[in-house]
Parts: sequence; structure tokens; C-alpha cells
Amino acid sequence: MNMDMMKTEGTLYRPPLEAKTFLLQVTAGCTHNKCRFCNMYRDKSFHMIDEDIVRYNLREGKRVADIYQRPVQRIFLMDGDVFSLSADRLEEKVKLIRQYMPQIETFTMYAAVRSIQTKTDDELLKLRALGVNDLYIGYETGLDDVLSKMNKGSDLADSITQAERLNRAGINHNALMILGLAGKGRGAESGEAAAKLINRIKPKVTRLTTLSVFPGSDLEKDVKEGRFEEAGEKEILTEEKIILENVILDDMYLWASHVLNSTPLAGYMGKDRDRMIKSIEEDIEDMDEELFRKTFRRQHL
Ligand code: SF4
Repeated sequence: MNMDMMKTEGTLYRPPLEAKTFLLQVTAGCTHNKCRFCNMYRDKSFHMIDEDIVRYNLREGKRVADIYQRPVQRIFLMDGDVFSLSADRLEEKVKLIRQYMPQIETFTMYAAVRSIQTKTDDELLKLRALGVNDLYIGYETGLDDVLSKMNKGSDLADSITQAERLNRAGINHNALMILGLAGKGRGAESGEAAAKLINRIKPKVTRLTTLSVFPGSDLEKDVKEGRFEEAGEKEILTEEKIILENVILDDMYLWASHVLNSTPLAGYMGKDRDRMIKSIEEDIEDMDEELFRKTFRRQHL
């Protein structure tokens, strides 16, 4: 659906893998809004979108779906961390949306680790029964000190505990991990830790995105003031290669084709691992760091 026809607030973000999914804004901003590397929602504070506006957008979405005779079966709820809503509020949203789009099977959204923590096991089971699934979770790294330095608001033990609770409730989760987040000199260590975490939490999909120091982020200040040094591209690709070599989940889909990634990769770990590793090895071999720095401008993307 054309988002120009919708009434929305601020810049909107959705995962690249949801490019064909119906998008609906039910909240604005992020409850945390303090991760040092992130500038996504700095222009708005977290609040609910007025129900009249949500209903208007649902009517518009339904109208277009009816014209094309394509009932909406999957919906991505925006903005950041819609899962921070209480289980009762989420149930209300699901029921409201189903009044307009009863065929929806999957309600997906960003979810912070601490927002899973606030739900009981029974609530998770109930949400799964309502169709809440495929949550996008920014685990970011397998290194505890990096989570703390980046002000993620949860630690590694939280990541593992909450992912395991989702698995027990039958809620699939997509792990968002950031290559280069540990900074220069820690790529190999970070790759090993990330693989260990992924093997433990068993996501359905893992998305690897390369760190970009975004303008206006706290990390930009850290770089300028010498508290953080970015890893070079070969180190980042080596970190990625270590992850691919060590993840043992054959059914997991790995997606690393974001515009921020220099080597686009996508595939299942079981059948596509060797092809993806070969691709990284070729790029490490061919990499001219100096030329790369001059031509690949991540912060301007
Ligand atoms: S990374 Fe996610 S949780 Fe952190 S500030 Fe950005 S949107 Fe919020």
C-alpha cells in the first residue's frame, strides 16, 4: 500500500524483509530511545497513535486491498517496540485490526528484550494464539560489555532468558545483530560471541547489519571524542565470516543484504553457508580499505 495515503507521524522504519507487508502505525517513537548507535526516533517521544487515525488507516488499507482483491494476511505494526504495550493493549489492537482485516494471520513488530520481560508466560501464549509472531528483536551483540556501553537497556542474560521464553511460547523471533558494534580490534571476539548467542537463542531469521555512525547519535559524539574507534571493513567481514562458520542452525535464514552491508548475503545456513562464506572470503581478499573508505559512505545512507 502507498504510505502517502496514510496519516502517519514522523519518519517510519520497517525491516527490509517486510517490504511487501501492510504497515500500520499504532505507536510513535521508542520507549527506550537511548541506544548510543541509534538516531531513529530522536525526533519523537513514545506515545500511542490516536485510535481515530488508526481506524482511518485501516479503512484506507482495506479499501486498497479490496480493489486489488488481495486480503491482508500479514501486518507490521510500527513504530519502535510496539511490543512494549501491555498484553491487554496488544490484544485490543489485534481485535481492532481484525474488524477491518479478518484474514490477518501474522502480527509482527519490533520488540525490545525488556518488553518481553514485562509479559507473563501465559500472556505470551495468548499473544501467540492471537497471531503475534515473527518479532524483530535488536539483540545487537553477544558481548555483555558492549550492550552496556551502547546503553541497550538489557544485558546478555536478559537476551537469552527472554528469547527462550519466546521459543517456549512458540513465538518466532528475528535476531537483529550489528557487525562492528564492538569497535576496532574486537571483530573476531564479537563474531564468536554472536554465533554463540544465536546458537543459544535459535532465531528463525538473523539479520546482520553493519554499524553506521549516524549523524546525531551518541556514538557519533563517542567517535569524535575518541571513545570509540570504528573497525575497518576487513575486520567487519572477518567478524561476519566467523558468525557464518560457527552458527549451527541449519534451518535459520540469514539476511545481510542491507544497504549498509558491503557484501550482500542471504540464504539458509544449512544449504547456503559455503556459498555465503566464499563470497565474504572473496571480498576480504579483494578489499582495498583505503579505496573502500573513500567510496562507501555509510553515514550518508
Ligand atoms: S535501537 Fe531500538 S531500542 Fe534502541 S533506541 Fe533505537 S529503536 Fe529504541
